Amino acid sequence: MNYKELADLLFPDAKPVSYYEEKYPARNLKEGAAVVRFAPSPTGFVHIGGLYQSIINRKLADQTGGVFILRIEDTDQKRQIENGVVQIVDSLKDFDIIPDEGMTGENTEKGIYGPYKQSDRKDIYQAFAKYLIEQGKAYPCFATPEELEEMRNKQEAAKIRPGYYGIWAKYRTLSVDEAAEKIKAGEPWVVRFKSMGQEDKKIKHHDLIKGNIEFPENDQDIVIIKADGLPTYHFAHAVDDHLMRVTHVVRADEWLSSVPLHLELFKALGFKTPKYAHTASIMKEDEGKKRKISKRKDPEAAVSYYHEEGIPSQAVCEYLLNIANSNFEGWRKANPDKDISEFKFELGKMSVSGAVFDLIKLLDVSKNVISKYTKERIYDEVLTWAKRYDTELEEMLQDKEYSLKVFGIERGNAKPRKDIAKWSDVKESIIYMYDNKFLNSNTEYQFGNINDKEEIKKILTSYMEKHFNMQDDKQTWFDKIKDLSEEFGYAREVKEYKQNPENYKGHVGDVSTVLRVALTGRQNTPDLYEIMQVLGEESIKTRMEKAKK
Ligand code: GLU
Repeated sequence: MNYKELADLLFPDAKPVSYYEEKYPARNLKEGAAVVRFAPSPTGFVHIGGLYQSIINRKLADQTGGVFILRIEDTDQKRQIENGVVQIVDSLKDFDIIPDEGMTGENTEKGIYGPYKQSDRKDIYQAFAKYLIEQGKAYPCFATPEELEEMRNKQEAAKIRPGYYGIWAKYRTLSVDEAAEKIKAGEPWVVRFKSMGQEDKKIKHHDLIKGNIEFPENDQDIVIIKADGLPTYHFAHAVDDHLMRVTHVVRADEWLSSVPLHLELFKALGFKTPKYAHTASIMKEDEGKKRKISKRKDPEAAVSYYHEEGIPSQAVCEYLLNIANSNFEGWRKANPDKDISEFKFELGKMSVSGAVFDLIKLLDVSKNVISKYTKERIYDEVLTWAKRYDTELEEMLQDKEYSLKVFGIERGNAKPRKDIAKWSDVKESIIYMYDNKFLNSNTEYQFGNINDKEEIKKILTSYMEKHFNMQDDKQTWFDKIKDLSEEFGYAREVKEYKQNPENYKGHVGDVSTVLRVALTGRQNTPDLYEIMQVLGEESIKTRMEKAKK
């Protein structure tokens, strides 16, 4: 028996690899176009690192006129959950990331290089495994779990490198006839790659992020097809990236140490190797030390967190680009109004050791992003968020016309307000503008420097009787507050007060604080004139009465 016959015995129905080479022809793209992919396992959890990579992939494809593929790696059937694919598709969509090709739902996909779910590609992997066996580059292995365990124990006891290689690769040297006999006898088997590498030799690799690296060659005869007929990650990735005509593999640097194996696999299969870019993990500062952001310890590791908190996707994407390329910040300063799609991302500018993710900085970015939104956009986004997470807020927003006025305060001008970082802050920051909430609450008024109850009542009464007029423009309105201050012995200007504090009880700022607190229950609010214009006369009167009680 020869290799070809052995291969037929193992995979009698597999098609020749030429069939697949023709079925998935080279892509007809312009020079330099990057074909990239995001290849998560459908475990139901999208990590911030996955989003980070998707953003990078999407950018690389967009910048070069390439293609971004979403491939699902579900060959480890134990780790999957129901609807795991949909959750990934939806999470990306939440961040406006739409792949050009690949999975679009649990069982739906688009593109002609599919199937895009690895469990649907079993025949393809088997065809390529068969091809390797025919060439004598892979072989069936019959090692039982007990045999493997014994091998590990011996290696451990002798303190030598673990693994299935060299003299430990027991079934590597089995003759074709012996192997055929075992197969015919029904012994379970897996397929192993026959490595030609030597551990004491070095290979060179150029990584687009990590730069030039030297590794020892791979010499492990790794499993490429498991007992269940499905491939291992290493083999599947080589076959898929080749047949999908991927040009750039952007993936987490936990895979960096597998590069020697992957390069050897590509070579044995006769494939051109893609370019590799291994991204460092996103880090977090914890008690002065840098550590990987962790699914277990950090709620912000899950992308669902940003939606629950109501941090706009745009802000998250902008911040991730910010930590991906350190020159982003300068670009943003120079181009405050440009869309992030105009920023030219470069793999070579990524941090080699891992960028630090800082929630506070993200919220700062978010404040800026939100400050540029129109009141209509804010209204729509807050409403969408509230429908999912906060019914009380949703109810408040029912009066759209009024809510638009509330969101319009200090917005749409040259220096828009920057006090909202996330939609979950909105209720707290606007609730006092709603009469049914404010008037029914037990407001604890803190009037600031003026704290004589009688004096406060007099100030409020005089204001409403002598000065208040809804029709006043802003200057007149403010002049009248100065008149009111003077009337009660407070300086019209802070400056005057500072020059001769003994002449006054306080200054105009103290008096306007009394008005502000009476109307809103707060000492810090956006512009009081605008607030009063939105509240309207009726509400102002009722609020003043409430404050006097
Ligand atoms: N399924 C692999 C993972 O989730 C993909 C790695 C890759 O992008 O090649 O880690």
